[in-house]
Parts: sequence; C-alpha cells; structure tokens
Amino acid sequence: MRILVTNDDGVYSPGITALAQVAAKFGQTRIVAPHVEMSSAAHSITASRPLTYKRTPLRDAQVEAYRVNGTPADCVALGMYHWEKVDVVLSGINLGSNLGNALWHSGTLAGAQQAALLGARGIAVSMPAAETEPDFEMLKPWAARVLEILVPARDLCLLNVNLPAKAPRGVLWTRQSVRHYDGKVVPGKDPMGRTNYWFTVVPIEAVEEGTDRWAIEQGYVSMTPLRLNLTDEKALADVARQHPVNKISFAAA
Ligand code: MN
Repeated sequence: MRILVTNDDGVYSPGITALAQVAAKFGQTRIVAPHVEMSSAAHSITASRPLTYKRTPLRDAQVEAYRVNGTPADCVALGMYHWEKVDVVLSGINLGSNLGNALWHSGTLAGAQQAALLGARGIAVSMPAAETEPDFEMLKPWAARVLEILVPARDLCLLNVNLPAKAPRGVLWTRQSVRHYDGKVVPGKDPMGRTNYWFTVVPIEAVEEGTDRWAIEQGYVSMTPLRLNLTDEKALADVARQHPVNKISFAAA
C-alpha cells in the first residue's frame, strides 16, 4: 500500500506531519506538498511556468518529503509521476474546516480529487481553525479510526472527512451541505484610502440534519463520499424530455 500525503497549507504545516504519522501505520508513506500555503486554490493547475520537485527534510514526519512550487493538484500529479502505483492520496490535515460550499474552493479537497482523476483514491481531511494550537495527539487516533474504515473501502474513490476541534463523540456518514452559503464580501480601506475587499464567513441558514456541517456542530467526525461526476441527472432527464435535440435537427438547421 502506497500512501501519498499532500495538503494546501504547505509542506511545513503541522497538520501534514500529523496526517503522515497516522498514514505510516497503513502503508508506505511519502509527503509531496506545496512549498507555500495554497489554501482556496481549489483544483487549479500550473500550466504557464515550470514546476520544481525538491526533497525537504521533515524530521517529525519521519517519511520522505518533497515540496513543489505549485498547487495541491500539481503536487499530486508530480507525486504520482515520481512514485508509481500510489493507492491512496491523503490531503490534510487542513487547518480549517471544509464543509458544504467550501468544497468548491478547497485546495485540500482538490488534492484528493486529483488522485481520483489519476485513477487512485483520494481522502481529504480537515479540522476547524482555532486560535489555540490544534490538539493533534487527541485527533490522531480518530484519524486512524477513519482510515481503518476508508482505506479498505475500495469502492469509495473520493471522500471528504472533517474532524471536530474537540474530542469527537463518534463518526458519521454525511452528505454535503449545499443550502448554507457562507461567503460574504466585506469592503475595507487600504492605508492609501483605496477600497479593497475581503471574503469572510457568515452563517446564513439553519444547518440540515445529516449534513457535514451538522455532524461537526454536533461534535462528530464527518465522512462524506463524493463523486467526480457533477451532472444533474434529474435535470438532464427533464431537459432531454422537454427540449429534445439531436444531431439530425442541428444538421437540418
Ligand atoms: Mn488550507
């Protein structure tokens, strides 16, 4: 079993070291991660400049580690190029939850997605950002419990896992919360008096039971199976019925 560990917080984040330490119990483990923080990079790839891949000593991780001057998706692509037959890519532990609509922005999830696109399996792992130092020693046995469930589950090619900040009450299967949009633009001024803008996080709606966000608010570990296919199957069936089009009608037009 070969396990590649990446993240979007950067190779020197304590979260990736904690995840690599847990991963090493499950198989051969190697870290390939961005040189600097790439949070909110989503699934972007670097196509307009060359990438580098450099060995980086990470003493506490106790596994081989490499840094890449690119995005999480770049790291997984380069990591799987240099190390063949990777079975599972773990991405995290991100210092910041990845719940609901955050999945569209998440570089952490993108690391796992890139694995799924390249024929491996991907598991993203996140925890809430807090002002205090994260308690990785408390969370590591829970991360291990999650991997005991997910690593042998070969039918699940893409998963999003969130850990609560405090000792979890247990582990739950969840669905992505999509009704709860939490992006808000806040205007400000720079020192020259010019207007600038920040995205911030403001909860808008009540949280639906059974979702990732609900599980975290209830103090559980959330595990959400995801898929690469974004097609709305019901909408496709409906429009195909309501607005039938085919090659012949285009050729005639
Ligand atoms: Mn991050």
